[in-house]
Amino acid sequence: MIVNCPTCNAEVTWNKESKWRPFCSERCKLIDLGAWADEEYSIASSDPNPIDDIDSDYTELDAIK
Ligand SMILES: [Zn+2]
Repeated sequence: MIVNCPTCNAEVTWNKESKWRPFCSERCKLIDLGAWADEEYSIASSDPNPIDDIDSDYTELDAIK
């Protein structure tokens, strides 16, 4: 069975000997995992602050009323 490496699109033979399947190499596997990690980090780090800002704005509006 031949699959394409998700990172570099190279053809990879999928068998017991292909240690990094579906990736062609350890490097491509780490690149893919790194991309996921970066995405999760940016979501986790950017979400809390806007919510805090919205909450404080509502509190100020309630105080004015
Ligand atoms: Zn690759």
